[in-house]
Amino acid sequence: MSEQRMIDLIESLFPICRSITGDGIRQSLALLQDIIPLEIVEVPSGTSVLDWQVPKEWNVKDAYIKDASGNRLVDFRKNNLHVLNYSAPMDRTMPLSELRPHLFSLPDQPDLIPYRTSYYDENWGFCLSHRQLETLPDGNYQVVIDSSLEDGSLSYGECFLPGQSQQEVLISTHICHPSLCNDNLSGIAVATFLADSLVARDCRYSYRFLFVPVTIGAIAWLAQNEDKLSNIRHGLVASNLADKGGFTYKKSRSGRSTIDRVVERVLRNSGVEYELREFIPYGYDERQYGSPGFDLPVGSLSRTPYGEYPEYHTSADNLDFISHKNLSQSLDIYKKIGDELEHSRFFRNLQPKGEPQLGRRGLYKKVGGETDQKETQMAILWLLNQSDGNTSLLEVAELSSIDLSKLSEVAEILVVQGLLKEISDT
Ligand code: ZN
Repeated sequence: MSEQRMIDLIESLFPICRSITGDGIRQSLALLQDIIPLEIVEVPSGTSVLDWQVPKEWNVKDAYIKDASGNRLVDFRKNNLHVLNYSAPMDRTMPLSELRPHLFSLPDQPDLIPYRTSYYDENWGFCLSHRQLETLPDGNYQVVIDSSLEDGSLSYGECFLPGQSQQEVLISTHICHPSLCNDNLSGIAVATFLADSLVARDCRYSYRFLFVPVTIGAIAWLAQNEDKLSNIRHGLVASNLADKGGFTYKKSRSGRSTIDRVVERVLRNSGVEYELREFIPYGYDERQYGSPGFDLPVGSLSRTPYGEYPEYHTSADNLDFISHKNLSQSLDIYKKIGDELEHSRFFRNLQPKGEPQLGRRGLYKKVGGETDQKETQMAILWLLNQSDGNTSLLEVAELSSIDLSKLSEVAEILVVQGLLKEISDT
């Protein structure tokens, strides 16, 4: 059911021309508001955010190149990738020699339109297939970009789902690409429907979903929410989640965060194809969350990473490119990660000197049925031995090869028996 709803969302978002600011983002966030409780935050142009400034807002109504007979050779209305994203306004007739430096194509993929941006360096231009570029005869062209670059604001979306604890799981995805599917509508769809699946659930963690324009949006959020960062216990950046490849998990900056172990466990136990990579300071917004002044435990889980499939940032990353099945599987993996995090709890043994005498407490009768007595006993022994306050239930599960849900069940009983105390994972 979520699969069809994700596809419907992607299809409704696909035609919208998004950028790092502007009405395209607001329109997109409004569509998400039909599904999840989402606050749209506006940060005015010129606002200082860390070492950056929120840029002028960009909007575009139309853009085209017309030949001398008035034919629209390159037409924004046919594909919004045709306009260099963030192009300054333009309305002039010029010879091909003057236009040529403003035309972008991919000689190695001559049928595809590239996706190009110029956010922080004012420019104008058009993107088109190399094949079309090569057919343009000399002569004069009417070049129109009906855009505006004015003081306005940067918009981002924030969906906060309070749980029993103030401690948070952060899920962040970028929302600034125009008509491109795998990068980045797949990430938006997975984050939205993960949030949707948690809305009605009584979660232990609070969950914060950020739908931000890449880099500047994450930086703006970080700059304005420094007081909340100490609550973030685990995080993931979601992107590229519907191509036909296996999963790629890029670890958090430390490489030793709970989220790194959880994601690896889920991928391993799900029987999916996957690859683990160490953190590098290049990629999506994990770079901002993982900058040394914040050093948040945020990894990045995608399928084929950015730049590693030929359709990436081209017109071929369209509705036909994405696999519905893989999109749906990506959501399942994200849900499983959430489930594991919910089970990742910390306990302290209150009788840590020697093993407590278990027989007289009648523990074995209180836990499990007759058939799994042996596993129950092992769960008790592992929990008592490893519950030093710093070792999570998850790690006990890894060490003991006992199922997390079994360990949780046994731990609850040991708490009631006064043998364990649950502590918050700070
Ligand atoms: Zn991208």
